[in-house]
Amino acid sequence: MKAAAFEYHRVSTVEEALAVLAEGDGYGKVLAGGQSLGPMMNLRLVRPDVVVDIGGVRSLTEVTSDSGIIRIGARVTHSAIEDGVIPGPTGVFLSEVAHGIAYRAIRNRGTLGGSLVHADPAADWLSVLIVLDASVVVVDQDGETSIKVKDFVVGPFTTGLGDKSLVSRIEFKELTGKAKWSYLKSSRKPGEFADAISICLRDESEGIFRITAGAMDVTPKMVDCNLSESNEEKIESLISHRKGYQKGLHCTLLQRSIHEVKN
Ligand SMILES: Cc1cc2nc3c(=O)[nH]c(=O)nc-3n(C[C@H](O)[C@H](O)[C@H](O)COP(=O)(O)OP(=O)(O)OC[C@H]3O[C@@H](n4cnc5c(N)ncnc54)[C@H](O)[C@@H]3O)c2cc1C
Repeated sequence: MKAAAFEYHRVSTVEEALAVLAEGDGYGKVLAGGQSLGPMMNLRLVRPDVVVDIGGVRSLTEVTSDSGIIRIGARVTHSAIEDGVIPGPTGVFLSEVAHGIAYRAIRNRGTLGGSLVHADPAADWLSVLIVLDASVVVVDQDGETSIKVKDFVVGPFTTGLGDKSLVSRIEFKELTGKAKWSYLKSSRKPGEFADAISICLRDESEGIFRITAGAMDVTPKMVDCNLSESNEEKIESLISHRKGYQKGLHCTLLQRSIHEVKN
């Protein structure tokens, strides 16, 4: 039986992290907030040989807004987003979402990048980044690559991230002052993982009117809607594989989200 021991490296730069991942002996894992990796390792579902703790990499906590693009470092925590580190209307939207993730102690440690790479289909950020049509910037020793989040996450708990790479930031277009959104999350208790997520985003000046359904057994998808229609077909296209009560729950939330932003 394999021993539970692993090499632990705390690094202070992205370059150092990449060097450890490249040279480390065996299967390497990045440790950010540890809120998902910790439980996975405790349950022996993940057994890395090398753990690279990026908790000291300050460059990964930067947030910038430039030429209409918001860039959020992978190590920005849920609580920093909740507290308003992201500027403008986008920040208001994301703060509202962050507030509904788990409870404050988890939000203080858990990071945007960690949540994305963990790729739990019920995670709040995954659905939000898909409706924002966000891109993820992956870095390895050859440089940076930008990939749409919808292509990066290839299935539940599965991404296309190589084991010698890490996520450095997430980018998307800033919302304008005209943006409206409806983020509905149904869970048994406040702060728990969702049974159903529905998001409708409308930004008139950018011609955006989209919905996303999350917390299903597949990666969330986004579809464009039409203001003058009931959008029943669009809703059905997102949840066609759902059955019974679960389908009804998603359908009700999606209809409500569309209604909230139309008016
Ligand atoms: C009790 C509890 C309740 C929760 N409730 C919710 C909830 O309601 N909604 C929700 O969305 N989430 C919830 N979570 C999950 C939480 O949001 C985690 O913070 C998140 O899933 C992982 O972020 P992390 O920074 O802790 O990542 P870690 O646990 O450190 O890492 C997770 C995975 O990402 C990889 N990774 C991390 N950062 C990088 C990087 N920069 N580059 C490459 N790989 C990286 C790790 O190797 C690992 O595979 C909950 C967690 C707990 C423990």
